[in-house]
Amino acid sequence: MFYIGCHLSSSKGFLNMAKEAVKLNANTFQFFTRNPRGGSAKSVDLEDIELFKQFAKENNFGKIVAHAPYTLNPCSADEKTREFALQVMTDDLKRMELIPNNYYNFHPGSHVKQGVDVGIDMIADLLNTVLSEDLTTTVLLETMAGKGTEIGRNFEEIKSIIDKTTLSDKLGVCLDTCHVSDAGYDIVNELDTVLEEFDSIIGLEKLKAVHLNDSKNELGARKDRHEKIGEGFLKIETFKNIINHPKLKNIPFLLETPNDLSGYAKEIALLQSLYEE
Ligand code: FE
Ligand code: FE
Ligand code: ZN
Repeated sequence: MFYIGCHLSSSKGFLNMAKEAVKLNANTFQFFTRNPRGGSAKSVDLEDIELFKQFAKENNFGKIVAHAPYTLNPCSADEKTREFALQVMTDDLKRMELIPNNYYNFHPGSHVKQGVDVGIDMIADLLNTVLSEDLTTTVLLETMAGKGTEIGRNFEEIKSIIDKTTLSDKLGVCLDTCHVSDAGYDIVNELDTVLEEFDSIIGLEKLKAVHLNDSKNELGARKDRHEKIGEGFLKIETFKNIINHPKLKNIPFLLETPNDLSGYAKEIALLQSLYEE
């Protein structure tokens, strides 16, 4: 099954996002759990959630992906920022259990001069606090471009976080195509090699979702500037190879390209035309 969708605004609730997705011919979507710059989440609307679940089932949706706010930084040098991360993730994960068995993706964080090792320990500390045995949500660590002091710029750093997390079976990885290219992984010419490397370091069974973004910058640029599909450094052929890769079957692909809804509809149609049954 080809699960394709895009990032949608969560301001009008779950049922509306799902309906919007169907209009775009999508069968999954991503949304921010709250304002991407932080702040409080909307109050929970249980009726909306029940209607969403029914609608998603009727329309054969794949797993959906919640995205934590960008301001969440579990390895900040500032204790208040780390507390905010703990508080937000605790609350988000509690809410996610109202739509069980989906994904919650976050940027591992920036260590801000404290060093990678300290950063990784702090991220694992947070995960060891918020994860519990009964959680049905899988928490995804996103692969990062490596700008500034971002952690998760290579597979080894992601693996290290997973290894330091006790309930590591609750963790997965979301591979962002713009980010990994910016981080220096050549998915344009060496997709198989990159996936083999992912497999030998982390294990491909941990790869639960892919962010499909072209990049405004060249391999290894460490910039993190998303571009529309086929209009950046990565080119159409790379996306065709990714969505059809035998090792990436049945996982959700989410667009985070600079688009309005009609732009997303076009990219979804384009990718569906490139998908080989
Ligand atoms: Fe992200
Ligand atoms: Fe992303
Ligand atoms: Zn990005």
